Amino acid sequence: MNIHEFQAKQILARFGAPVPQGQPASNAAEAGQAFASLGAPRAVVKAQIHAGGRGKAGGVKLVSSASEASEFAGKLLGKPLVTHQTGPQGRVVRRVYIEQASEVARELYLGMVVDRKAECVAVIASTEGGMEIEEVAAKTPDKIVTEPVDPVIGLGGFQSRKLAFALGLRDKQVGQFGALLNSLYRAFIETDASLIEINPLVVTKDGSVVCLDAKLSFDDNALFRHPELRELRDSNEEDPAETEAAKFDLSYVHLDGNIGCMVNGAGLAMATMDIVKYYGAEPANFLDVGGGANSQKVAAAFRILLSDERVRAVLVNIFGGIMLCDVLAQGVVDAAREVKLEVPLVVRMEGTNVEKGKQILKDSGIKVIAASDMADAARRVVEAIGVSRPAS
Ligand code: GDP
Ligand code: MN
Repeated sequence: MNIHEFQAKQILARFGAPVPQGQPASNAAEAGQAFASLGAPRAVVKAQIHAGGRGKAGGVKLVSSASEASEFAGKLLGKPLVTHQTGPQGRVVRRVYIEQASEVARELYLGMVVDRKAECVAVIASTEGGMEIEEVAAKTPDKIVTEPVDPVIGLGGFQSRKLAFALGLRDKQVGQFGALLNSLYRAFIETDASLIEINPLVVTKDGSVVCLDAKLSFDDNALFRHPELRELRDSNEEDPAETEAAKFDLSYVHLDGNIGCMVNGAGLAMATMDIVKYYGAEPANFLDVGGGANSQKVAAAFRILLSDERVRAVLVNIFGGIMLCDVLAQGVVDAAREVKLEVPLVVRMEGTNVEKGKQILKDSGIKVIAASDMADAARRVVEAIGVSRPAS
């Protein structure tokens, strides 16, 4: 789960990380008041959307009066902001953040991620702040320094110093940076984060180290331990189909293709996406209905799949281990009737009660293209949308 910059900064500040003073606002008047209450000569007004690249897209502005703050907020609010991370439709700005301006001398990059290979949290730092780290990694990988954090010992002082020196920090900044890293690491562990990204981390003209931007993502599987963090979810920032899927406890990820896929088991779902691509088409989604899905859940999954206008055919690929094929079939039939299915439906199922399941499909009167195995199913669904590219 992602949260807004201002929320991330509030959380990081609670852990002692240095962030500028600021206030969110949801209308122009509030933005002006926020400027006044900061009591600083200059502030930065920042669009709050779950996407980066706001600076280049005109979503961040330095202002020096309350009227300027409210004017710029008025321009941003209620309209979509298009950045290179939002897609062409952009994201509607519903809130802005007004923050005391910092005098920036240097922009650095600082990140913390879960390094699955090393089985620990890794700190990533670079002198190339303000740029996307993926770009730095591609062009100048030698400018990125990584330190794995031992989960038992924690972040060592020697590691903080090594990173500080790699960033060119000096004197009191080294100690400040060490304290900042400790705050971030504690925040990471205690909130069950999956990512913290401070881009840029800045050195101000008076020599302090400050988090100028903050991105914080949490591990969804640990959110049950943090009801207060769950409250920060902003459904406006999420794909409505994904929000609907979450209600039914379905793992659904929207993709760009046009073959709707309904599968049980993450591994089988991945394999299904692969085989659809292999036969020349693109999956519209990843969808794992889970092992013990009942027919309501299957019907919900089916509705969500078809709510995507781009879907031109549906492929159901189920292995009935714990899941029963007849339950699945009933769910598909119910949903197909409810949504008045108009696109071709290919079903491949195998496993427990498969004969019963096939009978339900047959008796339903719904046009189902039955497939004998996975390759056959993929071939048929690709044929159904009129793409034909023989697999080599
Ligand atoms: P992003 O573009 O969405 O990643 O938004 P950021 O929060 O990173 O802001 C973009 C850029 O605006 C930063 O890289 C800075 O160069 C600039 N910026 C943001 N806040 C300040 C500030 O307080 N003072 C100065 N001088 N520049 C700022
Ligand atoms: Mn940034």
